[in-house]
Amino acid sequence: MNTEETGFDAVILGGGPAGSTAATILASSGARVLVLERDHFPRFHIGESLLPATVSIFDRLGVHEQIRERFILKPGGKWLYGEKEVPGDFSRSDRLATFKDHPYSYLVERSEFDDILIKRSVAAGADVRFGCEAVDLVKEGDRVVGVQYTDEQKKRHEVRGRIVIDASGLRSFIPSRLKLRKLTEPHRMGIYAQYAARPTRDDIKEGWFIGQMFYDGWTWLLRLPEDRFSVGTVLTVDRFKRSGHSPESLLEKLVQENPLLREGMTHARKRISDVMVTGNMGNSSEQLAG
Ligand SMILES: Cc1cc2nc3c(=O)[nH]c(=O)nc-3n(C[C@H](O)[C@H](O)[C@H](O)COP(=O)(O)OP(=O)(O)OC[C@H]3O[C@@H](n4cnc5c(N)ncnc54)[C@H](O)[C@@H]3O)c2cc1C
Repeated sequence: MNTEETGFDAVILGGGPAGSTAATILASSGARVLVLERDHFPRFHIGESLLPATVSIFDRLGVHEQIRERFILKPGGKWLYGEKEVPGDFSRSDRLATFKDHPYSYLVERSEFDDILIKRSVAAGADVRFGCEAVDLVKEGDRVVGVQYTDEQKKRHEVRGRIVIDASGLRSFIPSRLKLRKLTEPHRMGIYAQYAARPTRDDIKEGWFIGQMFYDGWTWLLRLPEDRFSVGTVLTVDRFKRSGHSPESLLEKLVQENPLLREGMTHARKRISDVMVTGNMGNSSEQLAG
């Protein structure tokens, strides 16, 4: 072991929105916080269409102004079921809704959004280490009291804290290691990319999230800053295998044939990212704390 550190109040695994939010709140209250993040920011991440419940958190973290200035205000989401359109206008939600004071949210570019949040954690006093991947648990009896992690040079370190928070996202580091992670049925996957194009529909111009439901999945189209779109589909792994397509050809087929994707963007459009795939999209843990 290259170093062994103790004395942290919280060791947080992952610097995405969950990890950075926990880090900022804890560090702001005087706790000694360490965040281990295996990537370097800014980095791409899927998940751009936010819900109104996030807005009060932005206020609490002190990042709302930055988010308002940089991203697209989202008044709601519309789901298309065949020809039928079901709008979910946040401003028309139940007056008892938790978000009644801010009935809107944002469409964000996650690379920049996550970077804003993690910089806020650093400003609050958290020790954020990029390029550091948790690789093993440190346990005392049944209790997780720390982790071993590798740094950029693949050197191994051990760190302990009063609490260890798993914010590693879909990878669910602690539940996976403790064999508590369960994949939910049916197994679904996401296929997505970014396109450069202009919006054609007024609702998309206004920042609405638009999704189209089909029997066992959905497609989405949402606007990002600078005339870009996030385009993707979630489908069962079975359906994907039966399609006989590669992820690239399936997404291209959808963009050409699906009415929402075909007509929601100008026809002069260009894919500007690789086609990306996320497997094992749904999972749960039998235990949340211990
Ligand atoms: C196809 C698809 C579409 C989605 N669309 C939406 C959407 O429109 N709106 C929405 O709100 N959500 C959406 N989501 C969900 C959204 O991506 C997640 O809810 C969100 O990113 C969760 O944030 P998080 O901080 O928990 O995890 P993440 O954002 O995944 O962050 C986890 C971080 O942990 C790091 N990490 C992982 N393992 C380790 C390790 N061992 N050591 C150190 N660091 C580690 C990762 O590098 C990452 O930065 C979508 C998800 C998918 C798959």
